[in-house]
Amino acid sequence: MSDPRPNLVRRTPFPESVSRAVVTPLQPSVVYASPDPDALDAQYEGRAQGYTYGREGHPNADVLAQMVDRMEGGTGGIITGSGMSAVTATLLGLLSQGDHVLGSNQLYGRSLRMLTQDMPRWGITATLADPTDIAAMEAAITPATKLLLVEVVSNPTLRVADMEGIERLARERGLILVVDNTFTTPYGFPAFERGADVVIHSVTKLLSGHSDVTLGYVLARDAAQRKAIYDTNVTLGLTPSPWDCWMAERGLYTFDMRFERVQANAAALADAVAGHKAVEAVLYPGRPDHPDHNRAGALLGPNFGNMVSFRLHGGRSAANALTRAAPMVPFAPTLGDVGTTLSHPASSSHRGLTPEGREALGITEGFFRVSVGCEPLDLLVRDFTAALDAAA
Ligand SMILES: *Cc1c(COP(=O)(O)O)cnc(C)c1O
Repeated sequence: MSDPRPNLVRRTPFPESVSRAVVTPLQPSVVYASPDPDALDAQYEGRAQGYTYGREGHPNADVLAQMVDRMEGGTGGIITGSGMSAVTATLLGLLSQGDHVLGSNQLYGRSLRMLTQDMPRWGITATLADPTDIAAMEAAITPATKLLLVEVVSNPTLRVADMEGIERLARERGLILVVDNTFTTPYGFPAFERGADVVIHSVTKLLSGHSDVTLGYVLARDAAQRKAIYDTNVTLGLTPSPWDCWMAERGLYTFDMRFERVQANAAALADAVAGHKAVEAVLYPGRPDHPDHNRAGALLGPNFGNMVSFRLHGGRSAANALTRAAPMVPFAPTLGDVGTTLSHPASSSHRGLTPEGREALGITEGFFRVSVGCEPLDLLVRDFTAALDAAA
């Protein structure tokens, strides 16, 4: 008599097919079966390509890494679970107790926090300096300095770092130059051509572009540094989920088009906002009135990015009026979405600073940062004009 119940636990083989899927398959398997221990040896010793366990790597992360590798002009990029995990894997992979980091004083908020509050607990110290002032950067180097962490365009004041000077400083002093290229993207700033040793991205932002995944990317030019970062990523468990990688891959297919569109929109919106009576100042590196406009032109060419900041004449009440008059522009602390988003640093990313500290950076209660999206330009200008009218 046959068993009335089939063995449903044993997996049914995936159907054979002479045709192949056009879309990258999503491969959620955490584990991979090997034919025998010799095959596993071959894999771990690099003589055969294969996967073993999801935290050590998986095909969807590798497809995504190869795409960003091509954009950055390198090979062997590592996908991590977030932009911050890329920063974490890089710093903890390359530094040891007693080392010192020189960081830009205008880094992403959590990176600043990691340098100044977390790493000291692990015996790694940091000094922050103004990346537009090479003399200040140089003065902050100590005999223990090993690594330099910078972003090309700062958040939210959109100052442009003196990358030529920083590259020279890193070479002369033998420091590992780590560039967080999130704001500028590989097309705005080809980091390896400009002397970076390690490039980091928050893939969460412009690269994936739809605010539905959290991912990071890191690529080191040097193989030993790359391996150290990879091992730290795997040991700390910072590996991404296949689903997120698959989603980001999908987003990346339209990156070229989105990037062109958002930059054109940003330049036009900056000009439109600058002409409004409610606005005290507009910050956009592509505008001649930006304090770093000449450097931005030399470094970024025509790719001045999608971020525009502006300062209202009024304070918090004008800021409230503006956000309430623009409900169609999400007031949300992120950037790089396909649609335009608005952020108010004084109440979000920079709320930890004292009012005087914010004032010193030019971040008043009337300061806004716009991540310009792909909307039709006339619609954007109309929405912002209405919101600024309400704030006036
Ligand atoms: C958002 C961001 C990060 C952190 O990325 P997550 O994906 O949010 O962890 C790091 N650097 C910069 C410049 C960012 O904008």
